[in-house]
Amino acid sequence: MELRTVSAWSARLDALPRLSLVTDPTPLAFAPHLSATLGGPKLWFKRDDLLPVASGSNKVRSLDLIVADALRQGADTLVTGAGPLSNHVRASAGVAALAGLRCVAVYWGMEPVRVEGNHWLTRLLGAEMRFTHDGDRASADRGIEAAAAEILAHGRKPYSVPRGGACALGALAHVLAVRETLDQCRCLGIKPRVVLMAVGGAGTLAGWLLGTALFGAGWRLEAVTVSRPAPEALTRAQKLAAEAAAMINCAPRLRNVEIIVHDGFLGDGYGIPTPEGQGAINATARAEGVFLDPTYTGKAMAGYRKLRSEGQYADADAVLFLHTGGAPSLFTAAVEAMP
Ligand SMILES: *Cc1c(COP(=O)(O)O)cnc(C)c1O
Repeated sequence: MELRTVSAWSARLDALPRLSLVTDPTPLAFAPHLSATLGGPKLWFKRDDLLPVASGSNKVRSLDLIVADALRQGADTLVTGAGPLSNHVRASAGVAALAGLRCVAVYWGMEPVRVEGNHWLTRLLGAEMRFTHDGDRASADRGIEAAAAEILAHGRKPYSVPRGGACALGALAHVLAVRETLDQCRCLGIKPRVVLMAVGGAGTLAGWLLGTALFGAGWRLEAVTVSRPAPEALTRAQKLAAEAAAMINCAPRLRNVEIIVHDGFLGDGYGIPTPEGQGAINATARAEGVFLDPTYTGKAMAGYRKLRSEGQYADADAVLFLHTGGAPSLFTAAVEAMP
């Protein structure tokens, strides 16, 4: 890629309005004990779980841009939603509080009997909560729309963020994460062959896909799906990446990026812990003092452990595991019930 073109895209990314919550790069840390136990490549953690504001997570990166856009549009209320244990809703409530906005959280399903994990933190952060009383996850989408209309009718100014925060503007924040990570890799003298992450709504994977294409990173992207079937997750990521590219007026060849989405580690469903995920969480905590989570990163690490045990990644010198956060979900009854 021509250098001048790359710096033009870089400049367009830098010109996006942001709250500037993300001022410093998150740590890129070697995991010596896990690497030794699993054999093969050196494993590195990119610690986006440590992003500042309300317990961090990848969602803080996206909200840095999304909430700046809300303020620019003169909004006074952020409306978003997902399940009650959502990291995205918790992070939204935190960033909204910081930005002086109200936050309305629309959760699918019934109000749980026990307020736990992110639901508890979201309450602490002062969000107004609503439940759709419908187990269909898409009911939160309709709920967000209805809540925004109602807020508007009351003379306030709502700004809706799609369920789980998966949108093109949010994806652009993860393009910046790719640039940041490439700089760190250069300083450390490492060349990860693979970047591995969990994929849910796919905004994060979309950003990494676009960033990988824009900056010519030589790695393969691998994602472990934790909600929808792998082909659907991949299609969503590609679609969001193309939308995000259009927002900064570029059209890189996304098809040139190696990308694989793995099925097979979801277990009984989204947000339901698996024994393999729990095993990965325990092993990572005991080897590295790092907490993964039961919904996303634990399942992604379970995927890596399984694939590694089957002899994959033998050709890779280094693998980068994107730690997207989610530890508040460890403090839930579903995890406590695990053996
Ligand atoms: C939301 C989330 C993800 C997945 O990100 P998407 O952009 O929705 O695919 C991964 N890990 C954690 C902890 C999350 O909260």
